[in-house]
Amino acid sequence: MKIVNVETIPLSFPLEVPARDATGVWNSWDTVIVKITASGGTVGYGEIGPVHGGGVRVFKTLVDERLKPLLLGKDPTEREKLFETMRGKGTAAYAFGEKGAVISAIAGIDIALWDLTGKILKTPVYNLLGGRVFDRIPAYASGFFGKGGRPLTPGECSEEAKRYADQGFKGVKMKIGYGRKQDLQNLEAVRKALGPELGIMVDANQGFTVPQVMSLARDLEAFDLTFMEEPVSIHDIEGMAHLSATFPIPIAAGENYYTRYEFRELFTKRAVAVVQPDIIHAGGITETKKIASMAQAFGVALSPHIHATVGVAASIHLLASSPHTLAAEYITSGGSYDLRRVLYGDAYLVDKDGYIHVSDEPGLGIRLNEKALEQYGVKG
Ligand SMILES: [Mg+2]
Repeated sequence: MKIVNVETIPLSFPLEVPARDATGVWNSWDTVIVKITASGGTVGYGEIGPVHGGGVRVFKTLVDERLKPLLLGKDPTEREKLFETMRGKGTAAYAFGEKGAVISAIAGIDIALWDLTGKILKTPVYNLLGGRVFDRIPAYASGFFGKGGRPLTPGECSEEAKRYADQGFKGVKMKIGYGRKQDLQNLEAVRKALGPELGIMVDANQGFTVPQVMSLARDLEAFDLTFMEEPVSIHDIEGMAHLSATFPIPIAAGENYYTRYEFRELFTKRAVAVVQPDIIHAGGITETKKIASMAQAFGVALSPHIHATVGVAASIHLLASSPHTLAAEYITSGGSYDLRRVLYGDAYLVDKDGYIHVSDEPGLGIRLNEKALEQYGVKG
């Protein structure tokens, strides 16, 4: 069995109302689907990203000009070897650096190779990862993105929180970093809407400094937070380690780090209690499985960042096969959810009790709608 084609399909899914978080505003959810075809016609799908705000064709150029030539004619089941080939031979390691766009592109290809391998061997991806530890994964609702370029009001936060509780979620994650008064009013509204039992997580998207976070400690105590995500700059790993040692709320991070080497630093410096690698960003299934294993050795819980389409399925297979799984992120706003419903329908939706079930069909267990790929494809 040989790889006969590697295609990248850049997509742009327009939003009716622009979304925002503490880092910026986006008008469309953009992503890149990878489609790898093996001799005999079996096809595997992956996703590069996450991407919002444009630039998807950068990935097409990277794959077409640098990565695809390394793959054609090779055995698609040799994921480990192909990962090292893509990372090492004039692509990431020297010519373009070993982070960012290059690793994201490799991640998308890697996921497609796992899907393809599962289909060739007629087994679900979780079996290739050591088999199921869990057949369903608890999901928390993540969202509370601002609307039309402004943060949500307390009333809007309350409504969104109630909607998630009614859907069966046991926890929600909301954005903070819009100013102390607004943050606290929004938190009060959400805690009131959810009652004392359900979990609340907060995501600052790197919006604070260490002293600012420390000064919030007393105000936040009343809300019984499950974790605080990306409180400070991703480059301030010592600052996160300080917070992990002294701040009363567990610290989480991971969506902005790449490869086992960056995550190793998070773990050895004891910077996080919860790690959130993004499978379509940090290095695909091959690399994120290694990151997950390292986390387990350091006693760090696994709760990946998931804002994706095909990447949702890949993340659930990883979580299903990982003993220290905490929860899956589940985002229904911002564009990725609507796009994934269009791309593969009802697979990997949350059930009425707030769990996502892993598919036992071969590969990732999803069938992509080729017409939708055409409809939302970025031309040119
Ligand atoms: Mg985040």
